[in-house]
Amino acid sequence: MAVEKVVIIGSGPASWSAAIYASRAELQPLVFEGAITEENRINGTLPLGQLNLTTEVENYAGFPAGNLEAYLDKAIDPAVRQLMAPHSGHGISGPELMELMRQQAKNFGTRIITDDIVMVDLERRPFRLTALSGEITEAQTIIVATGARANYLGLPSEEAFKNRGVSACAVCDGALPRFRNKPLVVVGGGDSAVEEASYLTKFASTVYLVHRRDRLRASKIMAERADANKKIEFVWNHQLGEVLGTDKDGVTGVVVESTTDGKSKQLDATGLFLAIGHTPNTSFLDGQLQLTDKKYIVLTVPFRTNTSVPGVFAAGDVADDYYRQAITSAGSGCMAALDAERWLSHAE
Ligand code: NAP
Repeated sequence: MAVEKVVIIGSGPASWSAAIYASRAELQPLVFEGAITEENRINGTLPLGQLNLTTEVENYAGFPAGNLEAYLDKAIDPAVRQLMAPHSGHGISGPELMELMRQQAKNFGTRIITDDIVMVDLERRPFRLTALSGEITEAQTIIVATGARANYLGLPSEEAFKNRGVSACAVCDGALPRFRNKPLVVVGGGDSAVEEASYLTKFASTVYLVHRRDRLRASKIMAERADANKKIEFVWNHQLGEVLGTDKDGVTGVVVESTTDGKSKQLDATGLFLAIGHTPNTSFLDGQLQLTDKKYIVLTVPFRTNTSVPGVFAAGDVADDYYRQAITSAGSGCMAALDAERWLSHAE
């Protein structure tokens, strides 16, 4: 079996940026982009990651609003382009951005396997990776870029209105027309919930911040900021019971239930934003890399992408519970490829 120089696991901005750099460095990277399975669909872990689940991306530098249709037609493989939605004109969409990155990596010779890595052995050299299909790959270096998935509550009505008013990313979706000058609901009580709620007040008439307790978990400064914001209305001691809506209008409101006396009430809203944490996709590592208490990969050298195992690097949201932006993720993917290249040149 030929030993790969670099195997990249994942298919978000970190993965494709790593692949672009590694392939231009003639390391012939092999990307496992994830499998197309029902389980991955339900978990939000299909190929192309979280960005493929969003609509317009207005904050990725280099893609201002405009008509990119002709460019997309030329840049992306026609067979793939045919399957994509027509360009909306509002900057670039998440799926378009991901297809462009994937195509760019392919153009430089990146090989792609549409499968999950379900098991790794990081104790032996070369490293050994097992795919869902059972296929075994050996590699000198690995870049883990498997991302994270936003936590949802798992209600059927929540699932039914995803992308039609239900979101887990205010920065991605908050500025959409359906949320402007309308009441919105944010669920959660941590820094993310406060940040999402504060951000949404730029667009919403009112933001109901629904939290299951009577006190925020968020840091003091964030909590004070939320308190001072007249557009944020706290709904303490309540949890989400159901999302209300129609096929035509998407979300029209939510039912929240009191955690103290069980009584329900309805809040009219055109949007629901979940901010109840993220889960990094690290379970397949089976404890072989050092993880934080929240299961994110620990980067062991400041300003580098090294992990606790020499030769294994991590990039993007799988090692970042703080910035979680497409552009920071892409930057760290580039860093991981450069780190892997340097590690290989010293190892030879
Ligand atoms: P978090 O701190 O873990 O907070 C999650 C919140 O969701 C908690 O308030 C929790 O309620 C609630 N929650 C969890 N499961 C729930 C459920 N099933 N139903 C209802 N509510 C539920 O997560 P986070 O806010 O995403 O923050 C993650 C990390 O990033 C933190 O370290 C945070 O400080 C950091 N962060 C920092 C900033 C910033 O400084 N600007 C911004 C964002 C995030 P309970 O409180 O009852 O447990």
